[in-house]
Amino acid sequence: MEFRLTAEQELFKRTLREYCEKNIEPIAREVDEKHEGIPDEILEGLAELGVLGITFPAAYGGTAPEGEELTYANIAVQEIARADLSMSIPVYVLLQLGWATLVGRHGTEELKQELLPNVAAGKWFVGIATTEPGGGSDVANIQSNAVQKDGKFILNGEKVYISGVCETTEQRDGGHLTLFRTDPEAGHKGMTFAYVPARSKGITTTLFDDIGRGGLSTGGLNYKDVELPESYVLGEVNRGFYMNMEGFNVARTLVASACVGAAEKALEIGRDHVTNRVLFGKPLAKFEGISFEIAEDWSKLFQLKLLLQYTSWMIDTFYKEPGSFTHRDISEVVSMCKLEAPLLSVEIVKHAMMYMGAQGYTKEVPLGMALRGLMSYVVGAEGGSNIQKLIIAREYIGDVAVPYR
Ligand SMILES: Cc1cc2nc3c(=O)[nH]c(=O)nc-3n(C[C@H](O)[C@H](O)[C@H](O)COP(=O)(O)OP(=O)(O)OC[C@H]3O[C@@H](n4cnc5c(N)ncnc54)[C@H](O)[C@@H]3O)c2cc1C
Repeated sequence: MEFRLTAEQELFKRTLREYCEKNIEPIAREVDEKHEGIPDEILEGLAELGVLGITFPAAYGGTAPEGEELTYANIAVQEIARADLSMSIPVYVLLQLGWATLVGRHGTEELKQELLPNVAAGKWFVGIATTEPGGGSDVANIQSNAVQKDGKFILNGEKVYISGVCETTEQRDGGHLTLFRTDPEAGHKGMTFAYVPARSKGITTTLFDDIGRGGLSTGGLNYKDVELPESYVLGEVNRGFYMNMEGFNVARTLVASACVGAAEKALEIGRDHVTNRVLFGKPLAKFEGISFEIAEDWSKLFQLKLLLQYTSWMIDTFYKEPGSFTHRDISEVVSMCKLEAPLLSVEIVKHAMMYMGAQGYTKEVPLGMALRGLMSYVVGAEGGSNIQKLIIAREYIGDVAVPYR
């Protein structure tokens, strides 16, 4: 068992930290406040470093050493989140990395050729479209549907709160891996998961005015007789629910990576402040009310970082050695990461803000925008906290608590 990063992984992390501190940190607030998306030069820079193709094979422009995809992606997302606490850029990257993993694993040759090189180059965005107006948590109850006709699917329905709507229509190109019904009588066993280009004929969009993550848009996608080639289906027709869940395992891990990266930076901001701020004749760090809280936060964050390293390794091993773990083994641990990371990161940011007093409440520090960005993952993006608890309870307690679908 090896817990250290390899020399190559360390180098990747160091190089990326330097890049992010120099290029992303100085513009993070502007990106958050302007609401105009992520500047091209940032995506080009990340593409040059190989970050945007880190989870898929070299044959499609990918860059990760085989078998270490998630380990590298976890490092990358943590580093980007340290530099952009608004979460706009880390979320953009983590969504791409997460959902492109699935395309690399289960997409047809045609889809991989079309999509992945453009994703790796930072030109196209690929995201996820599961949530509908009837509720995001109850995935098995979605209503969007498609019929198969003349070698195509004809899709109708509506998705809401979808990240990357402007990015795939106005700012760049690309689309979303989308869940829809293909056998209405078969419940969750009658769903299909397919790539839907956002510029397809028959799609109209709406936008939500989110309180955070201002550099990344969230909107709705309405489908009216949208034609999709069969080659856009991931895996098998009517097995889409399970395909979507496999993708959630990867994406939720990277969500936790983003929260952990932001929390690490916030904790450092708080630590530096209490080290230097002198009150009542001594640095704030001398007061145990503060230093003990920082010790507790660091201890919890350190445990979470290790859990994430383990989870990334587990997913890498699952893909490298089929049969080594089941999807359910993985989803239990992934849900622990997704449950803990958003809540802990919000707590840490709040603590750091409080150490800074009034200054913590100003835009001189990135803590306010961190709080707004991180809350997206507390309220529900990529699955709310209670949904993670349902998954953990299902695996640990068993069917009596939560039956497996
Ligand atoms: C910023 C942002 C970006 C997003 N981006 C995307 C995206 O790109 N693609 C996408 O598909 N979706 C996206 N979402 C939607 C997200 O996946 C949903 O918000 C999430 O699944 C919850 O669905 P909901 O908002 O409809 O809440 P609901 O499903 O209505 O749930 C409301 C609350 O009830 C809780 N709850 C639900 N069921 C239970 C239960 N059985 N027991 C106890 N509590 C329960 C939930 O945890 C939640 O707190 C995004 C959301 C946000 C905030």
